[in-house]
Amino acid sequence: MDLTLPSVARTIQGLSMPELRKDPIVGRWVIIATDRARRPVGHRAEPMPPTDAPCPFCTGGEHNTPHEILAYRDRGSKANEKGWRVRVVPNKYPALQIEGELSKRGDGIYDRMNGIGAHEVIIECPFHEVSMANLAEENIRDVLWVYRDRLLDLKKDPRLVYGMIFKNVGAAAGASLEHSHSQLIVTPIVPINVWEEMNGALEFYGYRGRCIYCDMIHQELDDRKRIVMSTPNFVAFCPYASRFPFETWILPRAHNSHYENIQKTEVDELGSVLKTVLMKLETGLDQPAYNYIVHTGPLDTNLLPHYHWHMEIIPRTTRIAGFEWGTGFYINSVPPEEAAQYLRNVEVDVTGGRR
Ligand SMILES: [Zn+2]
Ligand SMILES: [Zn+2]
Ligand SMILES: [Zn+2]
Repeated sequence: MDLTLPSVARTIQGLSMPELRKDPIVGRWVIIATDRARRPVGHRAEPMPPTDAPCPFCTGGEHNTPHEILAYRDRGSKANEKGWRVRVVPNKYPALQIEGELSKRGDGIYDRMNGIGAHEVIIECPFHEVSMANLAEENIRDVLWVYRDRLLDLKKDPRLVYGMIFKNVGAAAGASLEHSHSQLIVTPIVPINVWEEMNGALEFYGYRGRCIYCDMIHQELDDRKRIVMSTPNFVAFCPYASRFPFETWILPRAHNSHYENIQKTEVDELGSVLKTVLMKLETGLDQPAYNYIVHTGPLDTNLLPHYHWHMEIIPRTTRIAGFEWGTGFYINSVPPEEAAQYLRNVEVDVTGGRR
């Protein structure tokens, strides 16, 4: 019997809309979104299944996606037609949806709320390119600027609390389409991983009066051991307690809690840093599957003195197994000092790239 998720999904009645449910013991929220099961991919599919279907993200297929939310376009070109460089569309199989009221209600000892939010796809280039690292720097800068534009726009909706930008590359990292893209999921609550970071950072701020990320940057720049690269405004390093081999964080050197406050000059520099780090990972680790995430302050806050936005890049060279699921411990086989040294020594040339 075929038990891949799509076949099971055909037998699921589904909910009329996505729903958030809270685990009453540890406070973790789960999104129950039955539409997601209908995505055209089995959860065991690996590597990416070959397909004859045309890529819905390539230019010319604009009608194959929902209507665009935002696009950086050539002057004179029309929405949902050719002529774009970066394009944002709603996810066809959203984890959360924007319509409806945010109602939170109890269910005995449990809590639930409507799955109000947004789920957008940022299509990073009009041509079929699977690797962001192969895009020209200007192209990557456009993508980074789009992230800012979308967060600023979503900030206007008082129902929305958190905007999580992330990227899945390769089937092992959860990607279901190979065309270079990232995603933005906006939730009506702060995700627990961010909440834990913010709480830890607030505690440090409480007794030291400083941002722990700023202190971390100073110590890493003094030590140099875990630095992958540094530029006037950014630093990339393998964190002291890396959970995964070659885990790499990118932080702005100047304190800033919210990604959407980023300046144009910083975006220009970040484009080069991100491209360099991704090229080093791809060259050094032979095109690994990876995820990156942007951790930033909640949409309903501004200028937090204790929190500092950052990107976490996680190559998926190992699988999370029973021990990790059971304990929350991670076993990392590559010390971050060695990972950083290795990545520092991978030579890359960022001047080229498709455009
Ligand atoms: Zn494509
Ligand atoms: Zn800081
Ligand atoms: Zn983080």
